[in-house]
Amino acid sequence: MNIHEYQAKAVLSRYGVAVPEGDVADTVENAVSITEGLGMPVVIKAQIHAGGRGKGGGVKLAETISDAREHAEDIIGMQLVTHQTGPEGKQVKRVLVERASRISKEYYLGMVVDRSVSRIAVMASTEGGVSIETIAKRSPNLIIKEWIDPVLGLMPFQARKIAFGLGLADSLTDKAVKIIMSLYKAFVETDCSLAEINPLVLTEENELLALDAKMNFDNNALFRHKDIQALRDFDEEDPAETEASGHKLSYIRLEGNIGCLVNGAGLAMTTMDMIKLCGGSPANFLDVGGNASTGQVTHAFRLILSDPNLKAIFVNIFGGIMRCDVIAEGVVAAAKSIGLSVPLIVRLEGTNREKGKEILAASGLNITPAADLEDGAKKAVAAAAGGGGL
Ligand code: GDP
Ligand code: MN
Repeated sequence: MNIHEYQAKAVLSRYGVAVPEGDVADTVENAVSITEGLGMPVVIKAQIHAGGRGKGGGVKLAETISDAREHAEDIIGMQLVTHQTGPEGKQVKRVLVERASRISKEYYLGMVVDRSVSRIAVMASTEGGVSIETIAKRSPNLIIKEWIDPVLGLMPFQARKIAFGLGLADSLTDKAVKIIMSLYKAFVETDCSLAEINPLVLTEENELLALDAKMNFDNNALFRHKDIQALRDFDEEDPAETEASGHKLSYIRLEGNIGCLVNGAGLAMTTMDMIKLCGGSPANFLDVGGNASTGQVTHAFRLILSDPNLKAIFVNIFGGIMRCDVIAEGVVAAAKSIGLSVPLIVRLEGTNREKGKEILAASGLNITPAADLEDGAKKAVAAAAGGGGL
């Protein structure tokens, strides 16, 4: 789960990370009154779940109250397009109004779970700010990295190593170490998968401040963080994905036109790859899990059918724990209750495969059986392209 910058700053400041003074507003009037309370200059920042807002026009400095009003008017309600939003952008519902900082240098500080070594990796760079992705790609030597032993936790010597690596003046080392240790504590205690301060700035007053903050949380650990769960913003989520998570389905909408209903994340990925390989394009990722009920299968169909681009559906099931006859019954019940508007291709393999096929054949529905994964993908691609091959 992702949260907004203003929420991440509130979490981090509870852990002792210094952040600029400010508040969030959802109307221009509120933004102006926060500005009046802070004093000039201020910075007005779009709150969406995506980075790159500065370059997209979602972060603006204001020297006067009337500038602040103008920026708030421009930003609230705008469709902000950044390299992380996709071409359609995201609508801005709120802005963070902060006292503007006088920046003397921008650093990068981030932590992620590095799956390749099963450890948290701490990353830092002297080249923080809006171009960190380019730096990481072109000059990876400018990124300092430390991996944390999960038993020992982040050791003070590691935090000092990073602070020295950033070339900070001696007077700032302790402050930097404190921020690094605090970010780590926040990361572990709230079960983050990513926490990032970019930029971490050195101000002209010689203070270190988190000017931007991003936190992602491990969904599997959210149950033990009610306070973090409360920060979820449904406006930022695809409504179909929200509905899916309510039914314990893993659903991600994509740009293609072939709906996929699959059990198991690995098989779902393979199905998408095979569709691509056969020249088609998947409309979604959908994993109904190891033992989906008829109700879940029906919901899964509803989600797939809610996509206006949909041209065909490919059901690809490997019956292990889940028996093929059960899924076949689910498919038939769902197809009958919803009414299918597009061709349906079904491949069943594994436990009770024959029984499942009989159920589909006896249903009277227009279902195209597939012999294997490739056959199914080919048939789905042909159907989506407008008949042919069926
Ligand atoms: P992002 O583009 O979504 O990552 O948004 P950031 O919050 O990181 O802001 C982008 C850039 O705007 C920063 O890297 C700074 O250069 C600039 N910026 C943000 N806040 C301030 C501020 O208070 N003062 C000044 N001078 N620049 C700021
Ligand atoms: Mn940033």
